[in-house]
Amino acid sequence: MLKKILYPTDFSDVAEKALEYVEALKEAGAKEVVVLHVFDSRTLDYLNRYVSTYADGMKITEENKKSTVKLMQEIEQRLEKRGFVATSRLAEGVPAFEIMKVAEEEKVSVVVIGSHGMSNVKEMLLGSVSETVIRKSKMPVVVVKR
Ligand code: ATP
Ligand code: MN
Repeated sequence: MLKKILYPTDFSDVAEKALEYVEALKEAGAKEVVVLHVFDSRTLDYLNRYVSTYADGMKITEENKKSTVKLMQEIEQRLEKRGFVATSRLAEGVPAFEIMKVAEEEKVSVVVIGSHGMSNVKEMLLGSVSETVIRKSKMPVVVVKR
């Protein structure tokens, strides 16, 4: 039932907590984990629209991509040490929609996501990414609370 997990991460503390839960799911028979990070195209569009007078348009720099890949490799290795088959994927777009797209492409059994992420606003019951994934996903979603 829990064979293949999609673990979307924004590298926040809450996402880190969700990773610990992913590791614990080994005991429940989980075998494979797909780690996913999405570069938010809306942030880039916004910066391009309003900051382009100051800079030559924002792009994801090679350096940024490289350090993200490195973070993902560390997570991959950590999961492999635990006995999982782990792969990582990078995407660009609207995070919630990319998460659901990859969940379908990879035919995962479950998505394990943090209730909050980088913003982690105290008054919010859920972050916008987790809320959209819970609303729209066809797969079961495990939400790990902050
Ligand atoms: P908001 O982004 O709405 O200001 P937030 O940052 O507190 O709120 P979310 O962004 O919804 O909360 O994060 C919830 C969870 O969604 C994270 O713990 C992580 O698992 C996942 N997530 C968020 N952003 C991304 C992303 N860019 N790529 C992959 N996973 C993400
Ligand atoms: Mn966020």
